[in-house]
Amino acid sequence: MSGQLAGRVALVTGASRGIGYHLAKQLAAEGAHVIAVARTVGGLEELDDEIKAAGGAATLVPLDLTDMAGIDRLGGAIHERWGKLDVLVINAGALGTLSPIGHIEAKTFDRTMAINVNSAWRLIRSVDPLLRLSDAGRAVLLSSGAAHSCKAYWGLYAATKAALEALGRSWAAETQNLPLRVNSVNPGGTRTAMRALAMPGEDPETLPKPADVAARIVPLALPSMTETGRLFDVRQNRFLTYHAPD
Ligand code: NDP
Repeated sequence: MSGQLAGRVALVTGASRGIGYHLAKQLAAEGAHVIAVARTVGGLEELDDEIKAAGGAATLVPLDLTDMAGIDRLGGAIHERWGKLDVLVINAGALGTLSPIGHIEAKTFDRTMAINVNSAWRLIRSVDPLLRLSDAGRAVLLSSGAAHSCKAYWGLYAATKAALEALGRSWAAETQNLPLRVNSVNPGGTRTAMRALAMPGEDPETLPKPADVAARIVPLALPSMTETGRLFDVRQNRFLTYHAPD
């Protein structure tokens, strides 16, 4: 397929539904071979059907991202088959629970950290050498406004997204002299299953569709992206500046 990602390989986690599904579909439409990761095989197969119908190609990887050894194996398999990776989208995420910090069950805390943070680090560790082999490696990390608003009862989710952004910024600093570009994204409220879980009283019709949100994120994965170590705000359609002490 022709397009701005023709001949490139893109890994998208959480590709079975929501924002990740549409990101995977749109990256494939730009010509990328998409490696689609999630647990729900039905969602991945639906994605595969849509990508194929549009003339694209995907490899489905049914994987629970709390399986850290599985993430290591995935990196090895990508190395064997393609010898590089061009795009990494860390999109899979879990809300955990909205609850006072003192009431969060240890099991819920550990699992949410494992999905949102530990798996992200493990995946970065696994594919960082492959992204460095690309002439235009791009990493996109799906964060949330919660990382900065730190509202009451959102502590667990907020902490995971703040940790994710910190990983991304440090990684960007380590790689700033390479072609690799690493950025976080705040998609803003989006019409997905996670948002419905977080805001059950909200009318989904008032929210942007995941396909439209994904379309604003795609440029971060393209070879033309020059920014690194920054936070892209989808609603404002611009990068925000981090203010950090030295
Ligand atoms: P959804 O709940 O719709 O989708 C989440 C995706 O993550 C699914 O594909 C799910 O796949 C995957 N996933 C969850 N747990 C695991 C796991 N253990 N192993 C593998 N895959 C997993 O979420 P959204 O599309 O709404 O969110 C996408 C990202 O955007 C998330 O990181 C979220 O935090 C962030 N975000 C979303 C906002 C919104 O309003 N929707 C706002 C701000 C940030 P499966 O269940 O098949 O494994």
